Amino acid sequence: MNIVHCMDEWRARRGSLSGRVGFVPTMGALHEGHLSLIRASVDNNDVTVLSIYVNATQFNDPSDLAKYPSTLEADLAAANAAGVDWVLLPDYSQIYADGYRYQLNEESFSRQLCGTDRPGHFTGVLTVVMKLLNLVVPTRAYFGLKDYQQFELVKGMCEAFFLPIEIVGVETVRDQDGLALSSRNKLLSPEGRKLAKKLNKILSRNETDESVRDALEGEGFSVDYVQLRGDRRFAAVHAPGYTHPVRLIDNVQMESLK
Ligand code: AMP
Repeated sequence: MNIVHCMDEWRARRGSLSGRVGFVPTMGALHEGHLSLIRASVDNNDVTVLSIYVNATQFNDPSDLAKYPSTLEADLAAANAAGVDWVLLPDYSQIYADGYRYQLNEESFSRQLCGTDRPGHFTGVLTVVMKLLNLVVPTRAYFGLKDYQQFELVKGMCEAFFLPIEIVGVETVRDQDGLALSSRNKLLSPEGRKLAKKLNKILSRNETDESVRDALEGEGFSVDYVQLRGDRRFAAVHAPGYTHPVRLIDNVQMESLK
């Protein structure tokens, strides 16, 4: 496995790669959810590129960025074992040599759901994804359906800008009790972790958004939103953490609507 910090070096090496290139962008603290994206890429491409980059511009809350977990050594071992060929570890000065003067905005869906409570979040996401796609020039890029709104926005961006890249959505990987794996789960207190497992179950109830919100609040979550959109219900909530409440998101495809 090749590890590259310098993006100029990577661009020079990219030219010598042939075949189908699969790309998995992450912010590190890798878990089984990330590994399922990596495995999908390894199984379906000739070369797999993983990026680990904690993208400051998508954090609307500086304390959220400061707390973001980092486990680089373990990440590299897991990536190597899963068959990654190239790991890109850029830093802010390389990704944002423009000082973030150039930004990629989506004017509609990015303002809903998570966009309501996290102003600027999806502009940061779309901007960094566009930069990473242009650096990697993949055949396919893999995104988790846990972050369904992100997946849909990235897919839409590639269509809107005629990028010849297939955006592949990968099913959410969950703990046995139903909690969607997330790097942020590490920050939950024991009490918060016990509560967190109820999110997925309550979200799947065949009830109105209002009654699902009441049930979540009744259990002790603080709720940002609960919203049915098409055949999926989306939610963002906060559960107790060691130092601060931890924001959790999830979405489920509603059985009755399938
Ligand atoms: P992150 O490091 O949180 O930015 O996530 C990197 C990628 O992994 C994103 O495409 C996420 O949607 C995906 N991902 C994160 N958690 C999961 C999960 N539990 N199941 C599937 N994909 C996930």
